[in-house]
Amino acid sequence: MVYLGIDVGGTGIKGAIVDGEGRILHRAETPTRAAEGREAVLGRIRQLGRSLLERAETPVAACGVGSPGRIDHRRGHVIFASGNLPGWSGTDLGAELHRAFGVPVVVDNDVNAASMGEAWIGAARGASDFLMLTLGTGVGGALTVHGRLFRGARWGAGEVGHMALYPGGEPCPCGGRGCAERYVSSKALTRRANEGLTGWRPFRGIRDVIRAAEQGSGDRQRAARLGVERWTDDLALFLMNLQMAFDPQMIVVGGGITRLGYWWDRLVQTAARECRERSMSIRIKQAKLGPMAGVVGAARLAMLSRRG
Ligand SMILES: [Zn+2]
Repeated sequence: MVYLGIDVGGTGIKGAIVDGEGRILHRAETPTRAAEGREAVLGRIRQLGRSLLERAETPVAACGVGSPGRIDHRRGHVIFASGNLPGWSGTDLGAELHRAFGVPVVVDNDVNAASMGEAWIGAARGASDFLMLTLGTGVGGALTVHGRLFRGARWGAGEVGHMALYPGGEPCPCGGRGCAERYVSSKALTRRANEGLTGWRPFRGIRDVIRAAEQGSGDRQRAARLGVERWTDDLALFLMNLQMAFDPQMIVVGGGITRLGYWWDRLVQTAARECRERSMSIRIKQAKLGPMAGVVGAARLAMLSRRG
């Protein structure tokens, strides 16, 4: 048996046919073009899914979909999605895609799906209690307890990016202030490095910041290094808070930024020190599956749904 996994993101939609061992047999990707609205995005998901179903050599048993936002996993319904996908809130994604694909469809939050992938064949393989954190434009979280995703009473568990890290701090698109994601997302790193620049060309993105931080001793490089250090220290504090709240076996950190630069060791050491001071320990691991975690995890959700 094989499974169709789909990962809907703010910029791209990815899909793959995945076998029972987590191997990707066929894959496809298309831009989301979210600004064109819900129907256009649904149309692209249908097209991508159908093209993959046609390429599968063996019958596809079920489809799993990861989507941003708060997802009613039981009904396959998008309760709420932020501004990255205009009009996405209220979509009956499960029903829409079941009609289009003719196979059972299961829908979950995108970070939940990614964490299922990491638990299956990635960094959290064999772990029964772990937390997954993704650092991108925003900060996402997913909690696995006793080997199962903990989705919360209102499907909102794991929204750790909007926990307050600096009370009264930076305004956040969610409506709150001082949310963690305003300080520890990969997007926040560029902003924070630019705050330390005076009269220099602004950093264009995280690669630019980290490259500057790693090289040279000029003012621009110093601003980058300071930005990276403050960002890393805030992230370490945030991880310590999460460790205190949930005491997971490990925290798996994903997002493209985890593969860039020297800051990882500093993060591990600072978080360990923060926890040690509170008589706790912490284990932080880099996610393994990279950008395909969501697709593989969505396929895993589809696979588990068939086992009941
Ligand atoms: Zn927020």
